[in-house]
Amino acid sequence: MFDTKFFPGAKKFWHMGKIYDWDSVSVHAMSHAVHYGSSVFEGIRAYDTERGPAIFRLPDHIERFFLSARTINMKVPYHDQEIIDAIRQVMKVNKLRSAYIRPNLFYGYGNLGLVPKVCPVELTVACWSWGAYLGEESLEKGVHTLLLNRRRIHPSQMDMRAKIGGMYAQSNIAGSYARSLGFDEGIFLNMEGRIAEGPGENIIVVNHNTLKTNDETESILPGITRTTALEIGKDLGYQVEIAPITVEELLHSDEVFFTGTAAEITPICRVTVEGQNQPNKQEWKTYEIGTGKPGPITRKVSQMYAAIVRGKETSYDHWLTYVYKSIEEMKKHLS
Ligand code: PMP
Repeated sequence: MFDTKFFPGAKKFWHMGKIYDWDSVSVHAMSHAVHYGSSVFEGIRAYDTERGPAIFRLPDHIERFFLSARTINMKVPYHDQEIIDAIRQVMKVNKLRSAYIRPNLFYGYGNLGLVPKVCPVELTVACWSWGAYLGEESLEKGVHTLLLNRRRIHPSQMDMRAKIGGMYAQSNIAGSYARSLGFDEGIFLNMEGRIAEGPGENIIVVNHNTLKTNDETESILPGITRTTALEIGKDLGYQVEIAPITVEELLHSDEVFFTGTAAEITPICRVTVEGQNQPNKQEWKTYEIGTGKPGPITRKVSQMYAAIVRGKETSYDHWLTYVYKSIEEMKKHLS
């Protein structure tokens, strides 16, 4: 019934302490979250290292998960360590060496009024092999984005630091729109007409050896990969800055890239600006970023990121949580 075409390697998932086969159903259609998006989630990656799969910046993801839950008044039925154990268990039962991991907390089956008065808070954890989010060639060749007219949700409307399921309706609509016009991804403006973020990615611009990104006051989810990229940048000897990004600045930057757990470090090589009152797409202006190819600093940060997540840069080992306690346990389990 539920094939794994879009979930390669998925065999089992975790739901409230039990492991289920991938094609089993454990959530009722009348669950609150199915109707209103009353859920919070995390997107985490584990990478293959010499010591087996290592989960990247897991404590930071767990911390954001609890922050998101607080925003939507959820009483989380587990402690952080129990969620970490569930994530480890899911990685083990699926026998994956690298994976995208998705914990999801949601209001379940109870009442269907907008206020989930008697709905239990439930947790699922799943994982599968997920390649490059914006396509196999995106990391090497970069992407062509559409700078949308649409304005990202303003922090006065919703707490942008939270990953709430329902808030992703805006990302879904905008991401589909950009792709329907042949672009790889969209970029939102914020209410003030400056750059916000992608539907599932943050943005970093590079000029004069400085990496610059915005923060949640500019209508973004403050991503974990974004701070990883800034740390890497600093360690490589570049300047870093957190400040608003204007449209002009984005279009005329030396280099621009997306950051995200799913998107990793994806160079942005072309940006088309959606015309304000121009329904004819042919009239929209396209800007090449820098030379129109992934720039040298983006490449350096991206290569370093790829090495760190795979455990090849030991000075960043504190960012890795190994799934298996020892190499022996890993070998026994995965052979
Ligand atoms: N913005 C949005 C809207 C996102 O969904 C994501 C992905 N979680 C990001 C930015 C990047 O965040 P992170 O680097 O923590 O994955």
